[in-house]
Amino acid sequence: MKVISIAPLVEAIPKWYSPSMLSSILKCPIRGLYTNNANEDYIVSLSKSGEIGTVMHLVLEKGFANNITEEKEFSALWSSVEQEVNGGTLKYQVKNYARYRYQVMTMLGKDRKTIKAKKKNRTYNFVPEKIIKNLDTLLKGRPDLLVFKHGKPYEIKDYKSGQIFSDDIPENDVLENGESYLFIKEEYKDQLFYYAALVREEYSYLPEKLTIISTNGISVTDDCRLEDVDYAMKRFQQLKKDLAQLNNQSLARPSKDNCRYCNYRPGCSFRIKTEPEPFGDVFGTVFSAVVHSYGNFTIKLESGEQIFNKKTGIAFPGIEKLKGKNIYLTNIRKEVSKENLYLISDFTVIYIYDKHLN
Ligand code: SF4
Repeated sequence: MKVISIAPLVEAIPKWYSPSMLSSILKCPIRGLYTNNANEDYIVSLSKSGEIGTVMHLVLEKGFANNITEEKEFSALWSSVEQEVNGGTLKYQVKNYARYRYQVMTMLGKDRKTIKAKKKNRTYNFVPEKIIKNLDTLLKGRPDLLVFKHGKPYEIKDYKSGQIFSDDIPENDVLENGESYLFIKEEYKDQLFYYAALVREEYSYLPEKLTIISTNGISVTDDCRLEDVDYAMKRFQQLKKDLAQLNNQSLARPSKDNCRYCNYRPGCSFRIKTEPEPFGDVFGTVFSAVVHSYGNFTIKLESGEQIFNKKTGIAFPGIEKLKGKNIYLTNIRKEVSKENLYLISDFTVIYIYDKHLN
């Protein structure tokens, strides 16, 4: 469970756009107005699997950037990144921790070997993590690995820590089908098109190949087609116009899928509430907040809904002072046997509409 105090969402036109930010904003353009530093409190990492994903991605990025091939160097890098991300306790909290760590080490080693072999014949060279900015389009990004062939951009490789195929398609079916790139998540494909556009702007050549690599070692490549990149850029230009001209109502694209995982939903008036069956959202004004003798607690809302935290031990200080405040809870579970009763889970976030709990 996490407790976060939030202020109303601040709206601003972005100064720059990155490929990953764009793939999220294109799904619901109003997110473009919300994506700014003033709204950082809304962004929460919910699960340990999210944190291990962040560690894996950072280690891959830094490993390539610093040419890490030796196991000793890898271990030192992994420990320092893990320390930075969550204080170094993931090994006790994440199932299959050793396997994730091993996968990253293998990926670094495997690509390094290929790189070494290719470097020998001087046909290829490799540029990891280069920041490319384009002032005209306001696009900036850092492709994980840019491969050059005979001095010209040849391939963009992007390493992903999450599931790379569309959620509703089982990975085994995709791999057996043989046309795996078709099933890559649309937002990941979009990101590669924007990286390709950046590479074209920087080097005046479009890369030939686009590759996504997952943490379990699956590598999927497709040709980079001019029409796809141009179409992605057209959508980007339109998005910038829309953000400058359209009203919020026209920019918002609330849908079950879009809002379900949107960090901004506690502050967004267009959100679609996720029903707590089994996990969802509840919000309202606190009628009472009572801490029981073992530190577990019950929050009662003015609507009559009650939220119970089974876990003992003080969950967060000052909980009694929630009375009268507006709160928003995500990822809570409905108790089937009792009407209007909800249970707090490990993934629950309690947003308090107030900067300070006082
Ligand atoms: S909550 Fe829904 S409508 Fe609001 S920004 Fe997020 S996705 Fe868009």
